[in-house]
Amino acid sequence: MAIPDDSRRIFKASVLNPIAPDRVDAYAPGYLTVAGGKIEQLTSDDPRPALRFAEYIDISHKTIMPGFVDTHVHLPQFAIMGIGSGELLSWLNTYTYPEEARFADPEYAAKISQQFFDALVANGTTTAVVYSSVHEEATDIAFCAARASGIRAFIGKVMMDRNSPDALLEETEQSISRSVRLFNKWDGAEEGRLRYIFTPRFAAACSMQLMKRVGEIALERGAFVQSHLSENRHEVEWVRRLFPSSPSYAAVYHGAGLLTERSIMAHCIHLAPDEIALLSRARTKVAFCPYSNRTLRSGTMPYQTLRDAGLNISLGTDVAGGPSLSMLEQMRETMTAAQIPWSEALYLATLAGAKALGLAGRIGNFERGKDADFVVVANDVVEEVYVRGRRV
Ligand SMILES: [Zn+2]
Repeated sequence: MAIPDDSRRIFKASVLNPIAPDRVDAYAPGYLTVAGGKIEQLTSDDPRPALRFAEYIDISHKTIMPGFVDTHVHLPQFAIMGIGSGELLSWLNTYTYPEEARFADPEYAAKISQQFFDALVANGTTTAVVYSSVHEEATDIAFCAARASGIRAFIGKVMMDRNSPDALLEETEQSISRSVRLFNKWDGAEEGRLRYIFTPRFAAACSMQLMKRVGEIALERGAFVQSHLSENRHEVEWVRRLFPSSPSYAAVYHGAGLLTERSIMAHCIHLAPDEIALLSRARTKVAFCPYSNRTLRSGTMPYQTLRDAGLNISLGTDVAGGPSLSMLEQMRETMTAAQIPWSEALYLATLAGAKALGLAGRIGNFERGKDADFVVVANDVVEEVYVRGRRV
């Protein structure tokens, strides 16, 4: 279908277009033409002679980059962002679990969900992979808030059937049936912009029976799965004690069928070579959360080793382990933690996230035909955010 000229907009700015980890094309200036919510073209020549009726927006002194993809973030921890101290296991018990228990109250869940998606958008995140609380209703409410925001979101209710406080503990079958109902209701909604992602919290809070059922269901339905893997040394030891017959933490998930190309494992810090090989063979995706890892003193993910193993690594803010929803801040943390240039961090925050979600053909950079999801940045601050060409 031909798009009439008058619906076109041409943005003149510095434009950064991530192509590969070691290649981000910089246009200074570039002309980004948007039509019908999609990217029409990105050129270094002024296209106005050929597009006489397009609206022209000159923001030459600002930078346009693709909308950010946050591949690991906890909605029900938004209100405790920046609060708390200590390492993972005590932090969960002291700060996180009591806060997540509050999401049994739908009013509270609705209030925080709206604040959370507003804040994501304000930070330039146009696609997010989200952990909800254990509650079915609160997760339903989170999906409604995501829908209202207009961004892409993968959301899952966390599953916890052991080693969890009473207020959050579920029966195994209950956990499965709640998750499947949410999957049936939301996966693929809003023209595919909303996806359900099965979310067994982490191996220490899940029985093998639960994880195996999730593995079977995900395989049957081609569903996404997310969890945490090897974040903290005490956690790794605990998982070893809980699964004595399993050779490693990653092998626990592998045995349950949870390592697939549609699963995203956060952290992956203290992995042995055989675990890295397992992830690599399964083409499992890695969510790298350096700000959280530094804050909770979890350790530093061996970025080069995982990259050399061929793993797809994308970024996650891991709020509230990480104290900020800002992907720009996350990119700065990434440069230090992974010893990589800013351009590579930008790739991880955009196209790598799109690849993790099977969306590289739809979002992540400024290839023709992709959704016009982008941010305008000036002085290191996100000033404007566009979702499918519409300013939000
Ligand atoms: Zn997390």
